[in-house]
Amino acid sequence: MKEQLQLLYQLQQVDTASAQATAALKNLDDGTRLAAELQAARSALEQAQEQLRNTEATLRDKELQLAGTEQDRANKYQQAVNSRNAKETEALQKKVAELDRLKDRLENEILELLDEVEDCNQRVSQRQGQVSELEDQLTATQQTFAQESERLNKELTELHDRRQELVSQLDAQLLNTYEQLRKRSDNLAVAAVVDGTCAGCHTKIPAARLDAIRKGDSLVKCEICHRILVVPEQ
Ligand SMILES: [Zn+2]
Repeated sequence: MKEQLQLLYQLQQVDTASAQATAALKNLDDGTRLAAELQAARSALEQAQEQLRNTEATLRDKELQLAGTEQDRANKYQQAVNSRNAKETEALQKKVAELDRLKDRLENEILELLDEVEDCNQRVSQRQGQVSELEDQLTATQQTFAQESERLNKELTELHDRRQELVSQLDAQLLNTYEQLRKRSDNLAVAAVVDGTCAGCHTKIPAARLDAIRKGDSLVKCEICHRILVVPEQ
């Protein structure tokens, strides 16, 4: 019986380790959340790039308009200088003044657009930084996920093999008792006795019961949590 109880205790350790490895596998971060964040950051970058392209295009239009206006003004000015007709001169001077106002307005608009292009460039490089940071994080997370799942799966296979080995050595009735108890007791059917205390519910075990557990001639259960009590042999 004593040997059987030690084997049962080993089986409990295997089952506890399997449950932990299974939970760890389930809780592994596979990078899904980061991938979604990266996708959002990439689309924000594309938007910033598009805004930059649009602003630069508007700036080029305004610069062309300004060049045309300057050319127009120079022509009208020259015509006014050369004109022999007072009425025509007056009309041309009026036109020159009008083109000067347009030139001022375009120059102001160009200055504003230059500021805006600078802002857009800053936003683009900020977004690029976010994207590359998230790419690095995602790569690292996916690598860790691959390594950890491989390690945990390997561990689970080893535990499974060890379990088969233990089960083949255990008395069928004892194994049945263990499985029934494990279902009811949150996966812990065999509790170790540590410092005279049940490791399952942390209750002090009376001295007479402790002796019986140490002898290992019979199955002793905790009076409080009803788990099978075993003094582990090292
Ligand atoms: Zn207990």
